[in-house]
Amino acid sequence: MPVSSREAFNAVEREGMFLPNGMMSQAGHDFIKELNTVLPVVEDALAILGEPAIKSRASEYRNGVESRRSAHAMARQPAPPGLLKRAGSLAKAIGSETKAIVQRQPNLTAKQVAARLAVCASCDQLRPNRTCARCGCFVDAKARFRSQDCPLRKWPAK
Ligand code: SF4
Repeated sequence: MPVSSREAFNAVEREGMFLPNGMMSQAGHDFIKELNTVLPVVEDALAILGEPAIKSRASEYRNGVESRRSAHAMARQPAPPGLLKRAGSLAKAIGSETKAIVQRQPNLTAKQVAARLAVCASCDQLRPNRTCARCGCFVDAKARFRSQDCPLRKWPAK
């Protein structure tokens, strides 16, 4: 039986099942075609294997899809800025913050800091180590600096 559904599956992962206009993509069509070809064989195999095996296969499949999805999500994030650039950003941020203190600009309230961090928490640029993939800064520290802003201008206005 010519089963190349992994290839078709990969194409769907790469190109998406649907186009932005809601129509099915070519990869989607190919995937369904593949599925239709192998479905009777899969059904026969599952009927022989029984329910526990079906459950175990289904959970293996779901785990595979999930780990692929998170690997793709990680790969889609831009590479973080290099160490030198990050050190430069930090020095600049400290300089701006010092200037803000000298100019007696008001400190951020705990509520303002929390509002910034809440935005970061739901942002796709936040990395597991709490750095921002855009600027490379540790968001917990950066959010406390009155002189700093989100590189994507997502934080609420002061
Ligand atoms: S600083 Fe801005 S871009 Fe970076 S994680 Fe927070 S909200 Fe996202």
